[in-house]
This record gives sequence, structure tokens and C-alpha cells, in this order.
Amino acid sequence: MKHYTHCPYCGNLLVDKWIEFEEMSRPVCEEGHFIYYPSLVATAAVIAYNGNSVVLERRAIEPGYGKWNLLGGYLTPGETVEEGAMREVFEESGLHVLLGKPFKTWSGTRSMCVYYDARISGGELTCSNESLEVKLFEFDQIPWGEFAFKHHEEALKDWIVTRTT
Ligand SMILES: [Zn+2]
Repeated sequence: MKHYTHCPYCGNLLVDKWIEFEEMSRPVCEEGHFIYYPSLVATAAVIAYNGNSVVLERRAIEPGYGKWNLLGGYLTPGETVEEGAMREVFEESGLHVLLGKPFKTWSGTRSMCVYYDARISGGELTCSNESLEVKLFEFDQIPWGEFAFKHHEEALKDWIVTRTT
């Protein structure tokens, strides 16, 4: 994982320094401009649905080339998680959605994901160059076991349970 090696203000090399109140060391600028706090990369994933169908996309990029995924992706600086979620849905599927509330979060050590469901409200299902295929699946047609990210698959399973019980 890439991280800061130099102060973004003065260009000095960062040096590891003990931070008393955190009881750990962090890379800091000795001029006092900057402390580097590595943080998780935020992503959003959206279960775009219409009745008993959900939209999945088949990835055209690694990791997980050729496997299925929920719509979503990395947030862009300057947007909220909600804005990023809706932007990704539109970019990847051409669909407009009414975003629901976040129903789950997932965290690894490098990225975290906020899950939303979203009712499809308009647009036209199209495939961007990020995907090999974008498709509506009835609940009983979902390609379980062929997902790029296990946490997407688990979130979708959990969500379907709440919809059908
Ligand atoms: Zn500095």
C-alpha cells in the first residue's frame, strides 16, 4: 500500500515519532506540519432492485475479472457516501435509483464498504466499459458462488432474507 514518505507541505522526509497519547509511533514532519494517519479507503455497494430482481455487474477488471458484483465502488473526494453510491450506480448501469438507508457495513484492513439498497426509479440498463455485463437477476437466479467479493455476496444474501421473510 502506498503512503506518504514526505511532508506534503515542506517536502521533508517524515520520521517515525512516538505519539504519547496514542501510545504508538507515526510518520511525522519534524517541522510540525504533518502527521500521517493511514486510513481505510471508503467504498459503497448498492443493491439496486425492482420487485424480486436485483442488478449485478460482471467485472471487466481485476481483481475478480469475469466475476459478479453489486454495483458500487470507490468514493471520490468531495462527495458523500450517498452521492458516491448513486454516481456509481448510474455510471455502471445507466439506472436512476431511490437510495434507501445503509443496511450494513463491512470493513477489511485496507477498505471498508457501506451497503445500501435502492429501488430502481428510471434510466435504461446499459453496460459501461468497467463491466462485461450488467444484468437483472430474479432472486432465485442469482449466481451464488461466482462473486468477486465474498462480502458483497454475504450482504446480498442477508438483504434477500429480510425481503422474503
Ligand atoms: Zn513539513
